[in-house]
Amino acid sequence: MKNIPDILKQESFNRDDLITLLRANGEDRTALLKRAQEVKLREVGNKVYLRGLIEFSNICSKDCLYCGIRKSNGKVVRYKARDEEILDACRFAWENRFGSVVLQSGEVSSSSFVKRIEGLLKKIKQLSNNDLGITLSCGEQKLDTYRRWFESGAHRYLLRIESSNRDLYYKIHPQNETHSFERRIESLHFLKEAGYQVGTGVMIGLPFQTYGDLADDLLFFKKLDIDMCGMGPYLEHEDTPLYEHRHLLMNKQERFDLTLNMIAALRLLMPDINIAAATALQAIDPAGREKALAVGANVMMPNLTPCEYRGEYKLYENKPCLDEDAGLCRNCLEARIELAGAEIGYGEWGDSLHFNEKKTKANTDSNLF
Ligand code: SAM
Ligand code: SF4
Repeated sequence: MKNIPDILKQESFNRDDLITLLRANGEDRTALLKRAQEVKLREVGNKVYLRGLIEFSNICSKDCLYCGIRKSNGKVVRYKARDEEILDACRFAWENRFGSVVLQSGEVSSSSFVKRIEGLLKKIKQLSNNDLGITLSCGEQKLDTYRRWFESGAHRYLLRIESSNRDLYYKIHPQNETHSFERRIESLHFLKEAGYQVGTGVMIGLPFQTYGDLADDLLFFKKLDIDMCGMGPYLEHEDTPLYEHRHLLMNKQERFDLTLNMIAALRLLMPDINIAAATALQAIDPAGREKALAVGANVMMPNLTPCEYRGEYKLYENKPCLDEDAGLCRNCLEARIELAGAEIGYGEWGDSLHFNEKKTKANTDSNLF
């Protein structure tokens, strides 16, 4: 078996290499994390791009077995933020030069929902003189819906595959038409077709998940040629069916460490994509997101959800910043990012360089004919 110093000298990585990297500990791990940061600085620089996260509704038609806001969790008080509240949060992001917002919600595909998002996107563009970049994360939709939202102003979309292993996917989702693995993959292809910068990701430390599964997830990202990635530790929620398997879990520190190894390995595998420092890291370690920024991540999503709704968007236990308002959160974030030695790309979209290069190449190729 190859050792880590030798693997770190390579430019490409096979499944066995990735498994070795994911298992790294001690000095080997320090070398992996250091190398990932060097690659990040060389490929995408030292800037952290902010995306103000607005969790605008917890109404969801799905029943993912791990998620606290799943349809069948009757303890959740359902909410839909009003248009003015969403637009106020966007205005805050724009005035504070965040560069972009992420609109996230449970999965709903009614025509009134599709239309409402369309209208909101146009208003966000209007209120910010087209300055704010917009990422959507509203689950699986029809190609036509993705197109309409793209034409209305969204240009990035986050849709985690959750696990690229079909068997594991069905251990963490009900096995029925509403939770089809094939449709999730098809949706990722639709997003590409509609022109978005596409982000996906997985939860790390799921019950039944192996190192081989995680290595395969990384290879899945590479094969799909994604532009962005958001991966975080799986965190249990007592009102979900997956909770019954909690005895199979690694402890939280191990899930945290493995997430950083995943981020570092992905930075080596796909050097010029955008990688987010997931909020779930902060639920384990208060400085979790900053630690991710030091080992390859370059995007952070400060929470701008109106305070009154935050307690009802509890995907997992100990979700951080529940009682902080947007302003306080922003100040603590800024100090932390600076402490982590990085610089905030204020007012910049910070689009995926990987996406931009693909686009330039496609334009050059089409000019040849
Ligand atoms: N409904 C959309 C979807 O599923 O794509 C977007 C919102 S969903 C709440 C966003 C992400 O939260 C999911 O992709 C999932 O990875 C993450 N999530 C849900 N429950 C979680 C848990 N218990 N631990 C960690 N992450 C979780
Ligand atoms: Fe709904 Fe998304 Fe949670 Fe699944 S992960 S239950 S789709 S909000």
